Amino acid sequence: MLDSTPTPKAARRGLILINTGPGKGKTTAALGTALRAAGNGMRVLILQFLKGSWHYGELDAAATLNTALEADAGGETGSAPTQHFVIRQLGRGFVKVGGAQTDPEDIRMVEAAWAEAAAAILSGDWDLVVLDEINYAIGYKMLSPEAVAEVLRRKPEMVHVILTGRNAHPLLVELADTVTEMREVKHAYQRGILAQRGIEF
Ligand code: ATP
Ligand code: MG
Repeated sequence: MLDSTPTPKAARRGLILINTGPGKGKTTAALGTALRAAGNGMRVLILQFLKGSWHYGELDAAATLNTALEADAGGETGSAPTQHFVIRQLGRGFVKVGGAQTDPEDIRMVEAAWAEAAAAILSGDWDLVVLDEINYAIGYKMLSPEAVAEVLRRKPEMVHVILTGRNAHPLLVELADTVTEMREVKHAYQRGILAQRGIEF
């Protein structure tokens, strides 16, 4: 008999998701998914490529949430606390790019960020790893899409990975399970309204 119900193996698996496109919402959608995952008891690591000069509200929210989740888990098991919801900024903000203009220090930081990201994905210690703004690092030719694809192909089966940033590389789009393109209808910035606390940072 034909049965359209997915098998348990097909029902639970790690996904590769990409939030791309010119409209606002790529990082905020990833943060929303991260919150959802954390609420399901999953361990979430968010690595922010190229960011570092601004202080984002999510850093403080994550620290507070992590402390609460650790206290919860410790109370139940009595075991040593493990990290549950962590955001790390692995850059220094604005990056000057274009051939010889790209500062070698920024390239070094992206390489270090990628080494940390690859290790985190492959370790299986995290249920969801968000690679925030990684598409820009790839677009600026600071990171090879093949290297990223190679790690994604051999990630532990249950690990979810989200990549954000405009102009996602076609190789990664091909590899991903779910790709969402944010379309800009309009943005406050076009009317000269600057970034707003709590909405943009
Ligand atoms: P957000 O972090 O708000 O979800 P994003 O991740 O989609 O934005 P990025 O390319 O990472 O977008 O750019 C981050 C910053 O640029 C944010 O302050 C965001 O509001 C702003 N921004 C995003 N899209 C636009 C746009 N179409 N026009 C002007 N500013 C934008
Ligand atoms: Mg973003």
